[in-house]
Amino acid sequence: MTEQSVAHVELPPSLTGRAVLPSDARYERVRHGYVHRGAPAVVIFPESVEETAAALAYARCRGGVLSVRSGGHGISGRSTNDGGVVLDVSRLDRVEVLDRARRRVRVGAGARWGRVAQVLAPHGLAVSSGDTGDVGVGGLVTAGGMGWFARRDGLTIDHVTAVELVLADGTFVRAEAERDPDLFWAVRGAGGNFGVVTAVELEASETGDVVFADLIFDARDGAALVEEWGEVLATAPRELTSFLTLMPAGPGRPPVAHVAAVYAGERPEDAQRVLTPLLGLGPLLKQEAVLAPYPALVPVGGAPHHGQGLGATRSGLLDRVSAHTARSVAEALASGQVLMEQFRSVGGAVNDVDPSATAYAHRTQNFQLLSATVPDLERSLDAHWARLAPEVNGMYLSFDSRRSPDVLAEAFPEPALTRLRSLKARYDPENVFDRNFPLR
Ligand SMILES: Cc1cc2nc3c(=O)[nH]c(=O)nc-3n(C[C@H](O)[C@H](O)[C@H](O)COP(=O)(O)OP(=O)(O)OC[C@H]3O[C@@H](n4cnc5c(N)ncnc54)[C@H](O)[C@@H]3O)c2cc1C
Repeated sequence: MTEQSVAHVELPPSLTGRAVLPSDARYERVRHGYVHRGAPAVVIFPESVEETAAALAYARCRGGVLSVRSGGHGISGRSTNDGGVVLDVSRLDRVEVLDRARRRVRVGAGARWGRVAQVLAPHGLAVSSGDTGDVGVGGLVTAGGMGWFARRDGLTIDHVTAVELVLADGTFVRAEAERDPDLFWAVRGAGGNFGVVTAVELEASETGDVVFADLIFDARDGAALVEEWGEVLATAPRELTSFLTLMPAGPGRPPVAHVAAVYAGERPEDAQRVLTPLLGLGPLLKQEAVLAPYPALVPVGGAPHHGQGLGATRSGLLDRVSAHTARSVAEALASGQVLMEQFRSVGGAVNDVDPSATAYAHRTQNFQLLSATVPDLERSLDAHWARLAPEVNGMYLSFDSRRSPDVLAEAFPEPALTRLRSLKARYDPENVFDRNFPLR
């Protein structure tokens, strides 16, 4: 059925109390995502696996667009739409410790990572997810998960031990290493293409308080600062993960570089030695370092979304931060056409994993760069990105707004892409889940 051919189908009685229609007072709070605006015909909030399957069957019968949503923070994935169905699993949000000794936890796909952190912290456990507590479990855990402990612990998907999902034909499956290994592989990197994830089980890490440093620099000499940051991170111990965000000059202030760094070592007193090289990156405008519990780093806000995020983004993985990259990034910001540049350190434990172990196959690069602007300036973003092309070695689909098929090869280097396409034909032959990367 095409987007145009929508059949009139009544919602099954089990879902009438779960649906929000445009006439409903709650609709304004649930129609948009963080980045994407939408006007869906109905948003359905299932509260069980059975209701998820019923909502999926309804959406398939009805025809038109289907979006799957967990936390609504999708950039590449479109978890809202115009005129279609949004299947929102946010009520499947239970978080529990299954086995403290083995550090096994179970998390509903609709939970937010900030709440996952809150529930696990009293047990001395944490799962590295991302820098934002409001991001949903479902979208992040099906793509990668570059979080505050990425260099110490790897990606979020590297800790997943089982995934439960409803497939396109309504079947409920539990995929793990010993059972449905192909699906288990595919879901960890390209999950949005394969089904509606209802819950995941993970092996959490022992984590007490960590040291969080928040540094703001005058970035008039942005190129030197970026290059130096890259050098510090390239040789730093794995307990250090850092994100560097550059913003252009604003009214009454110079361009600034915001360096956020987490030291998650067993001895917090080692943090000073590890963090000190970051203090010399440039003229400091602000510095703060605190010993904090992990949930403080990923607070839950919970405000409704308005589609307010920067809508045009590019993602590139880098082996190193070269002088050329640093200069290009600083020049793009100075031009006023690119409104944000953000580097994340990866490498470390991320690269301990065999590239063939998960559908996310990038296991040699050490940095991730995200460039963002408003959609009207997307051509300038492309020109900037063309200059960086020789340095870019793959991409993380979660940070890229492009949906053209050619970017697939960058996200899933062979043989991953061929394997994904053949699994897509097996598990979702009718391309029901088409709101993520166009695998088919
Ligand atoms: C402000 C912000 C900060 C971010 N920070 C980080 C970060 O630090 N590290 C990082 O790795 N990423 C980060 N991201 C990217 C984020 O991981 C992805 O955008 C992710 O898809 C968001 O998950 P969500 O559930 O909130 O998104 P949603 O918008 O709900 O979903 C996005 C897409 O994921 C798929 N999906 C969602 N739920 C399910 C499900 N239950 N089953 C199957 N597929 C599903 C669908 O294809 C959907 O279209 C950030 C994004 C934003 C906007």
